[in-house]
Parts: sequence; C-alpha cells; structure tokens
Amino acid sequence: MAQSKLKQLDQRNLRRSLYETGRGASCLVVRGGQELVSFCCNDYLGLSQHPDVKKAASDAILQYGVGAGASRLVTGNHPLYGELERTLARIKGTEAALVFGSGYLANLSIPPVIAGSGDLIVADELSHSSMRAGIQASSADSIYFRHNNTSDCHAILKQERDKYKNCLIMTEGVFSMDGDMAPLVELCELAEEFGSWIMTDDAHGFGVMGQGRGSAAEIGVSGKIPLQMGTLSKAVGVYGGFICASRAVIDLIINRGRSLIYATGLPPSAVAAATASLKIIETDQELVDLPIRYARQFTTQLGLPPAESPIIPIITETSEKALAASAQLMREGFLVTAIRPPTVPEGTARLRFTFSAQHNVDDIDTLAAVVSRIGLA
Ligand code: PMP
Repeated sequence: MAQSKLKQLDQRNLRRSLYETGRGASCLVVRGGQELVSFCCNDYLGLSQHPDVKKAASDAILQYGVGAGASRLVTGNHPLYGELERTLARIKGTEAALVFGSGYLANLSIPPVIAGSGDLIVADELSHSSMRAGIQASSADSIYFRHNNTSDCHAILKQERDKYKNCLIMTEGVFSMDGDMAPLVELCELAEEFGSWIMTDDAHGFGVMGQGRGSAAEIGVSGKIPLQMGTLSKAVGVYGGFICASRAVIDLIINRGRSLIYATGLPPSAVAAATASLKIIETDQELVDLPIRYARQFTTQLGLPPAESPIIPIITETSEKALAASAQLMREGFLVTAIRPPTVPEGTARLRFTFSAQHNVDDIDTLAAVVSRIGLA
C-alpha cells in the first residue's frame, strides 16, 4: 500500500525525500559532499549561528539540563520563560505573550480556543498548513477568501457574519511561499466593521519587518490586532512558537490550548537562546534591515516587482520544471529547494528564494546573473 502511494507521488513529481544537509556559520551548506550557498533557509538574520545566542543556549544546558521534563503546566515551566515572554509582549506591544513548543503547535491550538461551535472563521486561502490544521481542529464553521482579496472577505462577512456568535479573521502577515504582505489596514477595518477577532501569523515578518517588530508595525496597525502569532524558528533562529495577546486571552489559552497543555515544554536552551536573539533584534537595526535589502537587490537586478519581504518566488508552474531549475541551480553552487503542491496550489510550483543577513552583495549578484542566464527570470 505504501509502495503504491509512493509510486503515485513519483509519477506526479511530488515525492519528497530528506537530504542530509550540514549548516555552519555562514550561508554555506554541505549536501552530498557539495558546498552550496543556501537561498532557502528561514534563518533570515543568521542568528542560529550567532555567538551570543549559542552561548546563551550552552549556559542554559549547563544550568538546567537538556530537556524540560514535563509540560509547562506540570514542571516544564522553567525560570527562563518569564523573560522571553515579557520581551515578546514588549516588542509586540501587547499585555502578555505565551510560548509554545513550535509555531505549528501554536497555530494548531489557538483557533479552537477562540472560535467554537456557532462561530465562524474567515481565512485567507493561502493560509499556512498549520493554520488550516488549527481551523480544522476548531468546531467553528470556516470559509476561505481569495488571497489578499479584501472585497471577497467583505462579501463573505456581509453574507455570513450575522448567522454566527463570534467571528475570527485569519491571515499571514508575510505569506510564506509568496513573500507578499497581507492588506492589514483593510482587514483590521473589516474586523472592526463586523465585530470580529483578527489573528495574524507573522512567522515570516517577525524580526525582519517593522524594525523587527513584524508586519503589523511595518503597516502601522500595531494595537489593532488582538491575536499576533509568530515563531522563534525563523528570524529568531531557534525553535518554538508564540502568541501575543491580552492577559485574559493568554490565560484562556493556558487553560484550553491543547498543544500547550499536553506537550512537553521547550528545552531550556531554546528559551534562553530565543531571548538572546530578541536582544539582538531589538538593538541591531542594521542587521534587521539586511534581508530585505538583499531581496530588493535581487528583484532590481532581474527587473522583478520590488521585494516586499525577504521571500521571492519564481513560479515555474509545473513541479517538473521546479525540480529541474533547482537541480540546475545546484550545479551552479546554489541551494534553492523546489516548492510543489500541496505546499502551494496546483500549477504554481516554484523556486522560493529567501535572503539572509548572512549573504553578501556578491552572493546576490552571482545568483541573479545565474538565474538570468538559465532563463528563470
Ligand atoms: N506559519 C508559517 C507561515 C510558517 O511558514 C511556518 C513554518 N514553515 C509555521 C507557521 C510553523 O512554524 P514552526 O516552524 O515554528 O513550527
């Protein structure tokens, strides 16, 4: 049974495999003995390799050991969480914050806490798989609006909102596979007009947009988004997820969020390292600005629309073409993984380039020249 399912994936160029990939102190990775410049890590600021962050992790291991021992509600709430959550709340300008085992786990638990039977969730159709998992886990009804289309969202709310008790609008701040930003001003207005909650997943905006504070700060709607989710695994460079919200919402999630209640807390090293990363994000503006600057250099050199974020997709449509382009770039010394359905909709397979503070101007020049020479853009 498994073999025949794998064969079907093979036939559609959709089979995925794990490749051992060594990462070191720069954007260089080693795969199959070949050294490659990676343009597909979400470590936008290179903080996973920063000496202060590594030291914070190793000090925490020496003091507290390597595992949390239990869920946060039992004995896993070690003393390092307080500072991390206070820092997250300060950066986001909310009353409180709550750290989960990962961004996926945060998204899995938050929608069911906020919206249940008799409620409605209205979400962007390109919402990340973990948001969809959380929406499915909720007993609320759900409707997806066309990507970034506020007229469609408005039409759905106009027709449906009155039939439900509570309503939750969900979107990403920066879309993970497209790199475009959500129209947060308009979505906040819709939330207000229709008496709805709004939740953003800012996995790809936090640390790189809005002086590091994220998409809401970039767009000027900080304070208007009551549920701001993010991850500690991308620009922060470590592991874990979080939600910033009011004290009451956080207390409710502590009581009802299944992936917080029933999963072991993060290792102390991850919590200490994330706090150390946030200190750098709060103080090193030059570093925070670099990923977008490099993404803009790339789009300018290739005559593409200006980068809105450090993520630039080049759509190949078919998975076959995406795989071939990725292999071609690998021969030229670059690692850019092909992104295929179901991660992206059918017919929109792509190469997804991500830019990091660890790159340099020459890396971008060389990459843009190769992308142009092989006819990708
Ligand atoms: N949301 C988005 C938009 C993401 O891209 C990801 C990671 N791919 C997640 C959530 C999950 O975060 P984590 O990796 O911390 O589980």
